Amino acid sequence: MKNKTVLVTGASRGIGKEIGILFAQKNMNVIFNYCYNKEKATQIVDNLNNNGARAVALKADVSQKSEVEKMIKKANNIFGEIDILINNAGISQQKLFTDISENDWNRMFDINIKGIYNCTQAVLPAMIRKQSGKIINISSIWGLVGASCEVHYSASKAAVIGLTKALAKELGPSKIQVNCVAPGVIETQMLDNLSPDDIKNLKYETPLGIIGKPSDIANTVYFLASDLADFITGQVISPNGGFVI
Ligand code: NAP
Repeated sequence: MKNKTVLVTGASRGIGKEIGILFAQKNMNVIFNYCYNKEKATQIVDNLNNNGARAVALKADVSQKSEVEKMIKKANNIFGEIDILINNAGISQQKLFTDISENDWNRMFDINIKGIYNCTQAVLPAMIRKQSGKIINISSIWGLVGASCEVHYSASKAAVIGLTKALAKELGPSKIQVNCVAPGVIETQMLDNLSPDDIKNLKYETPLGIIGKPSDIANTVYFLASDLADFITGQVISPNGGFVI
């Protein structure tokens, strides 16, 4: 996969950051997308580039089609067309269903699913022309089984799975693979709103007895993006320590 160009959305921290670092260390050109955290994203790419990698940090709110289109243009000018798209950017929120406002609902869907529509539409014409490309979408175990007090999050992540399966069928004849990774509980800033007791219970409920690391997800994504996974499309792989089987 040397010299391929990879776009990772939401790569200023957490799982996206780890995915971007892994791909950069494997000699790929990596675009680290961020929305607010310019400083962190710039620091990551500076560190990588000082060690011989080829990475760039580009801002775009994935929920805004025009911002995404501008980002892809810039990326194309820097590294050429995108070969691998990792749709990772996402938000979560914990609320009783009855407390979810219309604004909460729309923001969840605008970022977690419309963001994937925006980014995928922007890179697809080149992939279809080249008859080659890999798209990996990040869902969640809650998109598989649902989480209480996270109905809008769970619904948006279930939509990611539906999008993956449908798009894989549509793009198969164009030799483009579309797969989904549905992480279990992973130690990132996204867990900041959980109490120590919540975390303890989640560990207890996980057969392997541990919380996952961003690298657990990055390794799975890397496998799906590699030639080893060339016959895999439309699938959901869930690294989750056995939490959901
Ligand atoms: P995180 O630490 O909160 O990081 C989220 C990333 O998404 C940040 O880089 C953030 O960038 C970016 N982002 C948020 N809104 C954006 C927008 N509108 N446009 C572009 N980027 C945006 O979260 P994480 O835990 O790494 O989660 C990454 C993905 O894995 C998400 O899709 C999440 O749902 C999924 N996931 C996480 C877990 C978990 O336990 N952590 C489990 C299952 C699934 P800025 O800070 O620059 O805005």
